[in-house]
Amino acid sequence: MPYDLLIKGGHVLDPGQAIDRRMDIAISDGAIAAIQPEISASEASRVLEVRGSNRYVVPGLIDVHTHVAYGATTPGVGIGCVDPDVGGVGSAVTTVLDAGSVGIANVGVFGAHLLPKAKTRVICYVNVGTFAHTTPAAADVMHMEDIDRKAIASCIRANPGLIRGFKLRLVGPVVQERGEDVVRLSKEIANEHGVPLMVHIGDGRHPDRARAGELTRFLLKTLTAGDILTHLCTPNPGGVMDAREAAQSVVPELEEARANGVLIDSALGRGNFGIEVARRQAELGVRPDTTSSDLTAGGRRLGVGLLDSMAKFMSVGYSLSDVVRMTTLNAARGIGLGDQLGAVAVGREADLSIFDVVEGKWKFTDTLNQVFTGTQALVPVQTIRKGELFSPEWGPYAWGWLPEQA
Ligand SMILES: [Zn+2]
Repeated sequence: MPYDLLIKGGHVLDPGQAIDRRMDIAISDGAIAAIQPEISASEASRVLEVRGSNRYVVPGLIDVHTHVAYGATTPGVGIGCVDPDVGGVGSAVTTVLDAGSVGIANVGVFGAHLLPKAKTRVICYVNVGTFAHTTPAAADVMHMEDIDRKAIASCIRANPGLIRGFKLRLVGPVVQERGEDVVRLSKEIANEHGVPLMVHIGDGRHPDRARAGELTRFLLKTLTAGDILTHLCTPNPGGVMDAREAAQSVVPELEEARANGVLIDSALGRGNFGIEVARRQAELGVRPDTTSSDLTAGGRRLGVGLLDSMAKFMSVGYSLSDVVRMTTLNAARGIGLGDQLGAVAVGREADLSIFDVVEGKWKFTDTLNQVFTGTQALVPVQTIRKGELFSPEWGPYAWGWLPEQA
């Protein structure tokens, strides 16, 4: 038996390599061993038949914005994190990036508990705020001293390889007062350690939309290649729609930043997706490079997840191929792993996602409680991570995976 596992008969969709056809994929020792139109079932010890006209096999999906520091915060007190495998292999996702659920005070949970146990590949971007998300106030930088450059350096020395980037939320009173200083210092720290900075835009409690927009423009001029802007479609103050132009255009600094190599992510979650913003951006040709979930424990009960984000973008008019590209090739490149992830290729780790596209009339709700409908929803079927098979979790609704019917 040359192969451990054969994925047989599936419609393989890998937009990064222009693969969109029926292919068989053979796996051995956790890596992809062969991709051919026909591989005999007799050549593998296990065979997974993938049948159904709306069932797709895609490169392992990558969710670049999740909150999976499960156990680092206390339920009911800080941010509600999910176990990495809930948003990961239990949801047809093979790689999750934790986007600043913890600061250096509590990032230790990754090395001690999460990474040794997770089946999902987990990448940690630590919050610049020391005590991030341990209390409701600590969701944001509480005062300038909360960004402790010395302690961050010491943390990085003591935990080699753990921290792959920094996360900053452009939210809260200190940011409202001294946003430029906060951005400048965070970027200096990221530079000091040679890792990217990911920044959350959109502050629902900001009293001054014009001022919030100014700060976002400053941010976009400060970010450099490899950095990530997240929440492209936020309707909150501080979004990329130009407050000077009645929010009908996008600030010019956005495309300048993208041209400089900044990744434009659209993490939806519950708090930062406006359907009108997304539609207007699509009309303007302003497309996100990646989409992601902003998954939290609370969102997990309300449909939030990577497949949900993909379905919502499909309702805006993006194709399945578009959203798969965003969550495979683009995401892999965006987090600097384009040479390892995001493609179905011989020799690579066998990370694959299998899901169904289910036609219907599906009801979604955005951050402003505007209801919109889509005709396609995505439901996970199996996840293959390093050659190992995982079945989906129950799903983000009481009844499973599909959204409510409109
Ligand atoms: Zn988030």
